[in-house]
Amino acid sequence: MAKPINHAGKTFGNWTVIEYLGKQYWLCRCSCGNMKSIYSGNLVSGNTTQCRSCAAKSKKRKDKPRTNRRKPIKPRAFLTIDGETKPKREWQKIFRLSRQGLEYRIKHNKLLKSGL
Ligand SMILES: [Zn+2]
Repeated sequence: MAKPINHAGKTFGNWTVIEYLGKQYWLCRCSCGNMKSIYSGNLVSGNTTQCRSCAAKSKKRKDKPRTNRRKPIKPRAFLTIDGETKPKREWQKIFRLSRQGLEYRIKHNKLLKSGL
């Protein structure tokens, strides 16, 4: 069996190695104060850099901007009448129609400038 490398005093991410526990396990203290025995392979490879509660905290921090992300802007509903393309909202103003009124006229093909 290979002689374990002495990691005591080293830091891996948030972990500070306190002492060797045997069988390739090291007692480590997280920056938050949590103590845990960690397999040296996981420590050296960077598989673990902090305790569970710290990992949960940093995950929360990461997730936060995601929830604050702006909603994708819906493509505006445009309508073309007599070769003019305007947002439906504007056509509503022009024809003095409610949204439902405008939709009704579109549906029944009654929306013509000459017809007003
Ligand atoms: Zn921690």
